[in-house]
Amino acid sequence: MSKQLAPIERVSWNIVRVLGLNPGPFTLQGTNTYIIGNGQRRLLVDTGDGAQTEYFDLLRQCLGSSRIDRILLTHWHADHIGGVGRLLSTPEIVAPNCLVYKNHNPNTDSNGDVMTMLSEAQSKGCLRDITDGQEFKIDGDELRLKAIFTPGHADDHMVFTIEGEEIKDQPNGNTVNGPLLITGDLILGQGTTIVYDLQLYMRSLGKVLELAPAALLPGHGPIISSGAVGGKSNAVCAIEWYIEHRKMRERQVIDVLSQTPTRANGGWRLDEVTSAIYTDITDPKIIVAARHNTLLHLKKLLAGGIVKRLEDKDSSGEHTELWVLIGNKI
Ligand SMILES: [Zn+2]
Repeated sequence: MSKQLAPIERVSWNIVRVLGLNPGPFTLQGTNTYIIGNGQRRLLVDTGDGAQTEYFDLLRQCLGSSRIDRILLTHWHADHIGGVGRLLSTPEIVAPNCLVYKNHNPNTDSNGDVMTMLSEAQSKGCLRDITDGQEFKIDGDELRLKAIFTPGHADDHMVFTIEGEEIKDQPNGNTVNGPLLITGDLILGQGTTIVYDLQLYMRSLGKVLELAPAALLPGHGPIISSGAVGGKSNAVCAIEWYIEHRKMRERQVIDVLSQTPTRANGGWRLDEVTSAIYTDITDPKIIVAARHNTLLHLKKLLAGGIVKRLEDKDSSGEHTELWVLIGNKI
């Protein structure tokens, strides 16, 4: 169950979280977007899906007479970039010379839906690339955002650190040192995220762990900020948990493959590995997700030279794949 999230939340002096009001099975309570800055010109990270009129009302309410002059996009998924076109044609929200920044990626940006969602920005000539390490200053030098390339959930995925801002720790009012981190869909406020390339994803998690952030401002779910345990921020603990969770699954996959397969010709099929690990799930939708996750691990192990993939035919003559731990006798 997703926790309730307020549509508008003042995260800190310079940051307001505005919910995209697009709840769903993949978006949890909806997409979090962040208004950053306190002056007449502010920056917005992500835009919601563009279909929720009430979301634009919330932005108006937060901005008053100030305007958005830069929109930063974490990645190409529709619930993050769908609002770009509508924002650019709403002068009560964006300044006339507003720029839209997205890490340009030929794979993601050639998708027809993405082209449509960014067409307004294209035709206005205000679409800009984001490069790894690029900085964005807000309100003079006071606040600095830095883009960090973090593929794995999506090929073009960027997270943004925010320096020069702190969140008062609750409930004792202490602050935790370190940058704040807008995580997009790399890390969510609850549960785990969907991954497309596990090798890249694990590398991206390692990258953000090194930053030792004080708080995580996710694309979905609640902000992870309160408290520090044993000298570590809850944000760091959350990243470590994400890494450990995937490593635990990898160990489980290796454990299954190291057992003698039940099939006479050796090797394990994807669905056999999946059901040996996820023993307690029956919901067909969750089984599909579990199979997807197992395959990600197998592909990562294949790339690492730990398993091999063999072609096979099942009893009905249908083509299938078998997975074998290298060094195992089959
Ligand atoms: Zn996403």
